[in-house]
Amino acid sequence: MARTRTTDVLIAGAGPVGLSAAAELRRHGLRCRLVDRLPARLPYAKAVGVQPRTLEIWDRMGLARAAMERAVPMLGQLTYVNGRERARIDLELPPEVPYGFAALPQYETERLLEEYVAGLGTVIERETELLSFAQDRDGVTARLRTAAEPRRSCGPAI
Ligand SMILES: Cc1cc2nc3c(=O)[nH]c(=O)nc-3n(C[C@H](O)[C@H](O)[C@H](O)COP(=O)(O)OP(=O)(O)OC[C@H]3O[C@@H](n4cnc5c(N)ncnc54)[C@H](O)[C@@H]3O)c2cc1C
Repeated sequence: MARTRTTDVLIAGAGPVGLSAAAELRRHGLRCRLVDRLPARLPYAKAVGVQPRTLEIWDRMGLARAAMERAVPMLGQLTYVNGRERARIDLELPPEVPYGFAALPQYETERLLEEYVAGLGTVIERETELLSFAQDRDGVTARLRTAAEPRRSCGPAI
């Protein structure tokens, strides 16, 4: 039988964006549920380049040092075509910017953020897929499918 649970915010997707949203919401005291349809974090990376501004935000969250220990500084980009250099970009920043660009595989970013939100009491609900949602004057009702059973989660729109 379908169960109903209520939360402040439902986040569908525990990639870097969903995890960052959960981290900031939890840091500011809101309740949230974080669901992902996958059974586990993917072992390969799409997002690799981390922007300086992201590192500033991670600094406020206390994550910048851990991230920098695992990251490689990104100084620029070289493009080769058939073995010949065709383009070169230097990633220079004004001296007042506290962090540079960094390369960190997406699974490492997700692992760091996952540990962070778990420390604030939010654990990713795996194998849980957002199927649909509908908004009325009282909030949003979302329909979720879990490995065990379909169920509902209510809360305001995000
Ligand atoms: C080839 C390629 C190279 C890239 N290179 C870079 C790069 O170098 N640097 C960079 O910053 N970005 C890069 N990107 C972009 C980067 O992948 C995205 O910006 C980043 O993954 C976005 O994070 P996300 O959390 O929004 O999405 P995703 O990483 O796609 O995560 C979405 C999550 O939501 C889950 N999900 C989706 N729908 C549902 C649902 N209905 N219910 C429950 N769960 C759901 C999925 O299972 C997944 O875990 C690249 C992208 C591609 C395709």
